[in-house]
Amino acid sequence: MSKFQKLRIVFIITLILLVACDYFLFFIPWWGYLIPISFFIGSIAVGSSVLRFNFFVHSNNYSEGKQNKIALTFDDGPTEYTEEILSLLDQYEAKASFFVIGKKVEERPELVKKIFDAGHVVGNHSYSHHFFFSLFSKKRVISEIRKTNELIKNITGQDKTYFRPPYGVTNPSIAAALKEVEMPVIGWNIRSFDTATDDAKKVSAKVISMIKPGSVILLHDSLPHAAEILDEILQYSKRNNYKCVTVEEVFKLK
Ligand SMILES: [Zn+2]
Repeated sequence: MSKFQKLRIVFIITLILLVACDYFLFFIPWWGYLIPISFFIGSIAVGSSVLRFNFFVHSNNYSEGKQNKIALTFDDGPTEYTEEILSLLDQYEAKASFFVIGKKVEERPELVKKIFDAGHVVGNHSYSHHFFFSLFSKKRVISEIRKTNELIKNITGQDKTYFRPPYGVTNPSIAAALKEVEMPVIGWNIRSFDTATDDAKKVSAKVISMIKPGSVILLHDSLPHAAEILDEILQYSKRNNYKCVTVEEVFKLK
């Protein structure tokens, strides 16, 4: 049972108790109902936008371990910047995970092959990455996921992959879709906010200050400053003996 389902049961019981109290025992003012309703709505808003709270779906966000392993993850590719990212990773003998968008895979299949052949993980980040993805029906979410899985399979031959929801947003439709496609969900515990600024030094300094063994870092290979950010993180990792591995390795998913 998800946290959302548990909260929903508690919410319904609370409302029944309030109504019963109002009817049999003493008068409950309107704001007495407003408190649990506001708490329920507020919890849904936070739970749907923060993946690591595991509110609607279970996700892998952080791997607490003794070994100095970290996972670099790149969303929203493949793009014209992916090649540079791959060269840097190769230079530092680092592995990473790329959550690709299906329609971009159709445009640059050769890059997806390159990512896979270099030993990185190719994950699914939906087909359209539509701004209103969170409003899609369960059927449409399943169709987006399956279409992208098929594209990845045609290039890499791999049957099994992982899913990262666009914008990290989840809700009952997405949760129901993920239950049906039976794919592990990968989140993160360090958000770089690399899309919010083009100041690569600022982004990498913030990420570096938060790195711990088992960290999973969210980056984007869709940005012109992505390589500069990565270079700083890789230099820091090398100096501090952090091994950059795939999400498969850090979460022991294989
Ligand atoms: Zn994305």
